Amino acid sequence: MHEEPGHPGVPMMTNQEFRTYAHELVDWMADYLQEVEHFPVRSTVGPGDIIGRIPLHPPPAGEPFGTIFADFRNTIVPGMTHWQHPSFFAYFPANNSPPSILAEMLTATMGAQCMSWVTSPAATELEERMMQWLGEMTGLPPSFTGVIQDTASTATLCAILTARERRTEFRVNAEGFSRERRFTVYASTETHSSIERAVKIAGLGAAALRKLPVDAGFAMVPEELERAIARDLSLGFEPLCAVATIGTTGSTAIDPLKRLGEICSRHGIWLHVDAAYAGTALLLPEKRWMIEGIEFADSFVFNPHKWMFTNFDCSAYFVRDAASLVRTFEILPEYLKTPEQDRVHNYRDWGIPLGRRFRALKLWFVIRSFGVEGLRERIRSHLAFAQSFSRNVGEASDFELLAPVPLTAVCFRYHPAGTDDPATLDTMNSALLDALNKSGRLFITHTRLNGRFALRLVASQTNVTQQHVDAAWDLIRATARSKEVLHEGAR
Ligand SMILES: *Cc1c(COP(=O)(O)O)cnc(C)c1O
Repeated sequence: MHEEPGHPGVPMMTNQEFRTYAHELVDWMADYLQEVEHFPVRSTVGPGDIIGRIPLHPPPAGEPFGTIFADFRNTIVPGMTHWQHPSFFAYFPANNSPPSILAEMLTATMGAQCMSWVTSPAATELEERMMQWLGEMTGLPPSFTGVIQDTASTATLCAILTARERRTEFRVNAEGFSRERRFTVYASTETHSSIERAVKIAGLGAAALRKLPVDAGFAMVPEELERAIARDLSLGFEPLCAVATIGTTGSTAIDPLKRLGEICSRHGIWLHVDAAYAGTALLLPEKRWMIEGIEFADSFVFNPHKWMFTNFDCSAYFVRDAASLVRTFEILPEYLKTPEQDRVHNYRDWGIPLGRRFRALKLWFVIRSFGVEGLRERIRSHLAFAQSFSRNVGEASDFELLAPVPLTAVCFRYHPAGTDDPATLDTMNSALLDALNKSGRLFITHTRLNGRFALRLVASQTNVTQQHVDAAWDLIRATARSKEVLHEGAR
């Protein structure tokens, strides 16, 4: 550390020190990725363990980087859950990959704030091109225009706000809500919680959300939508928006887009498609049936930051009518006016925050490094792993599948012969989940389907292989059949 000229007494890392530490960190990063499999997948610390090790007050004087980095290794890493562990089967993945990490390093180094074209023309224009690439890769209609958002939750909020504004001719933005109009939004009981949050934030009121019953495969039922719309119209509500989910969070059920779209189109309802996780599967031509009817959609979102090997955060939001999106969010204070504003995209007006990260760079690195065929190959292998796991479950007499497996999530439970009491099965499977995750050898999560406690394994981590999936099945089966878990569960 040295004293900067003009800042007496303030130590600052020199460029030479930065270079040295950067090399050291890259070595750590490569070692980490190589060794990640040997960490317990889910962190084993308890609540308060980490905060207790961090000083109550910030240091008045600068500390050597070596000390900071040592504390990172000793204090922070043990408190991390390892999302890049190949036996991470929980939630949906937040995959990264080496090219994505490298791009993030460059993004951080340039530290650009990419709110408008002029604040970094390359960031804006690369984003425009990457969204065209993603649209083509997923088979979206060429009329769709895309923008990168931080998360699917934000994209869905943008969709509902734009639907609201377009319907009210941009009056709510201008004057606030009028008491006379009561809007409604439709989704299924399996819809993601971000829909309800968006409905609340948009000022429609949580009561405006109609959560419609699903079919045996947990997909939305078009007749239910039709019925709900008719009922609401007769009561004086204005049906505003419907959200179809391609790959629900619980069991990756696929709502029947075409039939839902026809209904929405007939009633002039905004159709938003939430494919946050499953959108990546659309890279495979054989999975495009999932978005048959996409021409009825007004907006579509999927997260490359889940399954497409691109670091969190990177959510791809597509709209049919970009003008309405921009008109909903546009703000033009004097200090942001630029001479070229009519000829370029200023993405600050395509969403909620003003400030924007340069997220397109990592997409560019990932898509070019893997190539579209390389991405497809890996996605196909994940689908095959899920099929093999679900076959194992289906063939075991003491296990059962609780939902169809159209993608990579397998919902199942332990169900030994003679144990049929629903509450006992729930406790038993909950104890099994706990025992499995405490082992540190894998991490799976759960959901509830038809009221039943379901174990849920998602086989789509970047580095997962058939061996990891087979080892997971062996461990799950052996743990379930061991006496302790049975005993725990039966108590
Ligand atoms: C993960 C998920 C979301 C939320 O994604 P974020 O990017 O974390 O906001 C929304 N919908 C579905 C179907 C999801 O699986």
